[in-house]
Amino acid sequence: MNCPSVDPEIVARRKAALARLDFPRRLWVGGQWLEASGGEVWAVRDPATGERVGEVPWGGRLEAGRAIAAAAASLPHWRATSLRRRSEILARIQELLRELREPLAFLRTAEQGGPHVQSLAEVDFAADYFDWYSRQVRRLRRRRVVKEPDRSLRVELQPVGVVAAITPWNAPFSAPARKMSAALAAGCTVVLKPSELTPICALALAWICHRAGLPPGVLNVVFGDAEAIGETFLEEEAVRLITFTGSTRVGKWLMAGAARGVKRVFLELGGNAPFVVFADADLDAAARDATRLRCANSGQVCIAANRLLVERPVHAALVEKLAANFSRLRLGHGDSPDTDLGPLIRPEAAHNAERLARDAVRRGAKVVCGGRAACADLPERFYPATLVDGVRPEMEIARTELFAPLLPVIEFSGEEEALRLVNGTEYGLAAYLYTRDLGRARRLAGRIEAGVVGINHPRPLAAHAPFGGVKQSGFGREGGAEGVLEFLEPRLIGIREG
Ligand code: ADP
Repeated sequence: MNCPSVDPEIVARRKAALARLDFPRRLWVGGQWLEASGGEVWAVRDPATGERVGEVPWGGRLEAGRAIAAAAASLPHWRATSLRRRSEILARIQELLRELREPLAFLRTAEQGGPHVQSLAEVDFAADYFDWYSRQVRRLRRRRVVKEPDRSLRVELQPVGVVAAITPWNAPFSAPARKMSAALAAGCTVVLKPSELTPICALALAWICHRAGLPPGVLNVVFGDAEAIGETFLEEEAVRLITFTGSTRVGKWLMAGAARGVKRVFLELGGNAPFVVFADADLDAAARDATRLRCANSGQVCIAANRLLVERPVHAALVEKLAANFSRLRLGHGDSPDTDLGPLIRPEAAHNAERLARDAVRRGAKVVCGGRAACADLPERFYPATLVDGVRPEMEIARTELFAPLLPVIEFSGEEEALRLVNGTEYGLAAYLYTRDLGRARRLAGRIEAGVVGINHPRPLAAHAPFGGVKQSGFGREGGAEGVLEFLEPRLIGIREG
């Protein structure tokens, strides 16, 4: 089966837009576009159609080593670059991202499938980070000096050094932007390893940084054999910090490996966000926001609503509203303006969603709407918005990160049971509370084990606010004033006087 076709007018617009992204599809190392040493290439494909989006080199140890060497060589110059100049470059990157938002959005949809409007929003979000850190740079000038009769103690903030940033495919612009903008502001140089599924988005970022005046070697982009590249990051002495967004499995592996070289790691890992609706909530708003939070990017978001917890008296009413919302969502190619849900990144992701829904049904739950049968005429990468009611917390569907537009519904009675369910997971990235009783919401928020809590608010994120998880969702914060501090080390300089 083919993906529903896109209007020829839009296809022409996409073609013209992509032509503006006029850079070689190669690795970016030391200010040069680089082929892989062995000449291996990798075809990037549109997940909706399977069509080839481009061909890129398949790098490995050697390329990663070169990128680290380039980042290390450019470090003395970059860390000595004035804060004002750093700020100007970051601001210019932000401007270019906004100027090129349409071509970049087409590229993102081509590589990872998300609807065009969501791709535009992601480019804007990436730009917000560069904007924020272009302003934050100025605050780094602050030094603390403690004067004593016979000495002075100066505390200065120093960049940690070469940063390796590993990012996933689901946020191919904002995830690298969040890491790079703060690291570059701090005076670090960066080797970025994006997902092999969305490498061209990362190359576009490198190209934009170059055009904005970022000196050669300050940002490098390599991808290919992820494990070999990861190993190289762990082995090379010059890499002082690894910042990772991705699966818990890989995060744990990196953290264990980083112990060998005593490198810092920041991990933004999986989530299992509860979306809690109390009986006094505005049910229309809750249904609207839960739909958005579960279905944006086809559910492939780490802060997505992964479990709906609903208080008994409003259970039936909320499920009805959600089912109505879910049933309205249209599947298709992300470039088509009618599309609400693009494909999942891989067919296996749709198979997994279906397996989890069936497993829940076997244990007594019920599919209210959706399920693979509801879109049997589409390629197997597509999965419709699916609501599974009557789920119990011990079922697999309630315990794993789903990464699909699949929402299990669990009923509860009272605050204490809600809280037990909310915290009854090894993850702690995001949680959402819907209630008109703000006193209760605040009280509960204080007891929730999550890095981000939304109260009647589906997206409490911003470039100027810190983002990150607790428990096995990771540690370290990105964004906000906190985000840049992760890339800095306070250094103490004591001077004897008199
Ligand atoms: P996902 O399942 O969402 O793709 P991953 O954790 O596998 O999550 O991928 C996130 C990022 O981590 C990607 O850039 C991927 O290539 C990279 N990655 C995967 N395995 C390793 C590894 N062993 N070392 C370093 N990076 C890795």
